[in-house]
Amino acid sequence: MRGFLGSIRTKLIVFSLAGILVSAGVPLFLAVEQYENWYQQFVTQQLNSMTTNMSEDAVPLLIDSDSNIDITTFLLGLERYDNVVFAHLYDADHRLYAQFYNPTLQASEVAQLSRRWNNINAITLGTFVDGNYLVSHKLIGDERLPLGNLLIVNDYQGPLNASISSLSTSIRSYLIASLLMIVIAVYWLQRSTLNPLINLWQFTRKVYASKNYGLRTDVKGRDEVAQLSGSINTLLETIDREITRNQQANQQLQAQQDSMERLANYDVLTGLPNRLFFMELLQIQLKQSQRAQRDLSVMFFDLDGFKQINDVHGHEIGDKLLVAVARRVEKFLRDGDILSRLGGDEFLILLPNNPDKVTLIGIAERLIQALRTPFVVDDWELSISASVGITHATQAEYSLSSMISNADLAMYAAKGKGKNCYALFDAQMEQETVRRIMIANAIESSLELGEFEVHYQMKVNAQQQPIGFEALTRWIHPDMDFISPAEFIPIAERAGKITKITRWMLVRVMRDLPQLIAKIGDHCIVSVNMTTFDLRQKNTAEYVKTLLAQSGIAPNHLEIEVTESAYLDNFAAANAFFTTMQDLGVSIALDDFGTGYSSLSYLTQIDINTLKIDKQFVDLLGKSARGETVTKTIIKLAHQLDLKVCAEGVEYPQQMDILVKLGCDQVQGYLYSKPCRLSEVQSQVDKLTAPAESP
Ligand code: C2E
Ligand code: CA
Ligand code: CA
Repeated sequence: MRGFLGSIRTKLIVFSLAGILVSAGVPLFLAVEQYENWYQQFVTQQLNSMTTNMSEDAVPLLIDSDSNIDITTFLLGLERYDNVVFAHLYDADHRLYAQFYNPTLQASEVAQLSRRWNNINAITLGTFVDGNYLVSHKLIGDERLPLGNLLIVNDYQGPLNASISSLSTSIRSYLIASLLMIVIAVYWLQRSTLNPLINLWQFTRKVYASKNYGLRTDVKGRDEVAQLSGSINTLLETIDREITRNQQANQQLQAQQDSMERLANYDVLTGLPNRLFFMELLQIQLKQSQRAQRDLSVMFFDLDGFKQINDVHGHEIGDKLLVAVARRVEKFLRDGDILSRLGGDEFLILLPNNPDKVTLIGIAERLIQALRTPFVVDDWELSISASVGITHATQAEYSLSSMISNADLAMYAAKGKGKNCYALFDAQMEQETVRRIMIANAIESSLELGEFEVHYQMKVNAQQQPIGFEALTRWIHPDMDFISPAEFIPIAERAGKITKITRWMLVRVMRDLPQLIAKIGDHCIVSVNMTTFDLRQKNTAEYVKTLLAQSGIAPNHLEIEVTESAYLDNFAAANAFFTTMQDLGVSIALDDFGTGYSSLSYLTQIDINTLKIDKQFVDLLGKSARGETVTKTIIKLAHQLDLKVCAEGVEYPQQMDILVKLGCDQVQGYLYSKPCRLSEVQSQVDKLTAPAESP
């Protein structure tokens, strides 16, 4: 553009100069040339007529040879003409007869001239220009018999130059005037055409540099430049509009992309990175750490008792609690630590800065402590706790899946330690996993191969008379030996195989019940344990019903034991199950009372028959007054709710005495009977009913 305009400007100057030259130089050149022609013609004519006249006038003078003086005087008449340089008059024999020289000539000039023009025969007749001179040569008298010759030589160049110079002077003013006019014209052209163009060019440069398409140029006048400015403005408006539209579309796209990214990478509830995003981040960190031969840690925590809060208070409060937990935990994390919600009540923390064991334990303890302080959500004071598993990248050889599974194992180990605890992953846990997997895999085949057994533990009343039994499974695996139900029942629950065990158990109990009734009497009640999983299965109640119908056994001989936590895990399903059982005539006992959530408020809402006080309270009897008070309170409360109380794990007569004193209805424990095979039940009964041996 700059080049384009530059060239316009150059062209304008070149054209202007050419204009000046043409308008001034050409007329001057033409005038001088014309003038020269005209001058030559004029002076030639004049000299010619003068020479002709003089040669005629000279005839009488040459005929009268006496009038010599007159000839000289005759030539002196040329004095009047400034331009006449000299005149020679020759006789018929071509001898110089008379001469005239301009009086202004020097003697040397006269000598030079007379030398040059001395041979009249060599000089052509007529009038003509010869160099700087105008020469006129005429014959005097009749040309057939001439009397002589007349030669007049005029200065030609001198007067011509003087004449041209005066001509130049006269046209100089005209030249200056036309020059001025041209300058004015150029100036006007520049102002009216080039300046707006340059302004427009500068404007477009400004738009280009600033990328501001909202700028507009002044539109003035009606000429082409104004039209061009108008077009540029219209173009800019279009660009500006398009840019605005593009920006809006881009913003929309960006917003969509952001929200998609948020949805894909962040947990909607807490705003924390989600499982997917966390795994990606961890994978990157693992690779970096492996390259740098560094270690990093992951903490896995899960909230104990969250399910109950969700069930009792509803999901809305549960959700708010999760958000509050996230905010509280975030507060004590260090720079670079990443907190993520895996889903449900499970959270992961990535600690990339390779904290040492002491720091890690410090963080875990602070985390547990922080979550112990009750949360206030919608005026509810909610207490929860956390189980924390900790693991290192090196323990998993920097494998993502191994690291997560190790963290999970450590977290379960912490839960196993009794909740509100942390556990550091160790290789032992991996072996435990292997064992768990083996156990889970062996359940079905062992059931089919008859490797499971039912053991019965007698229950007695306050008078120590047998009133029934609790059915407990026993598993003696050929390779793994005895496996405690405390170990395999939770595994079966997690592996989804508990229903098989429960149903097998129910079938066995139905088969054995007639014999058990026969051993202790028609009041005999046998209880079977059930888990959350069983209660959630809609057809469990139907299964019990069918079995009772098939066996023909009265439903009042059967009792179902459900733990407090299994009930609270899903109290809607549990309540429905309890109602069906109660309608059938099957009784319900709440197992392990006092170990779980222990909110007494729900006891008024559920349809149960018996409360089983956990062994941990029985253990305190006779040892701590407070322990005794708790048991006493539970018994009192149960009775007020019209429930029977059964104390578990009674091992000493003293415990029994206290329980009887406190009004406990039933007792179960090694003091009276260990769980035993059906074949051994009789001897247990006999032992109990035999008259006491004298010491
Ligand atoms: P539980 O339902 O609380 O059963 C009572 C447990 O306490 C039994 O352990 C029993 O052997 C033990 N016990 C009874 N009296 C005493 C005592 O005086 N001292 C001591 N130290 N222990 C005593 P077991 O048989 O090992 O069962 C453990 C748990 O496994 C049971 O606790 C129950 O929750 C579960 N379980 C056992 N069999 C089944 C079953 O067939 N189905 C289900 N769902 N759970 C079962
Ligand atoms: Ca039980
Ligand atoms: Ca129990």
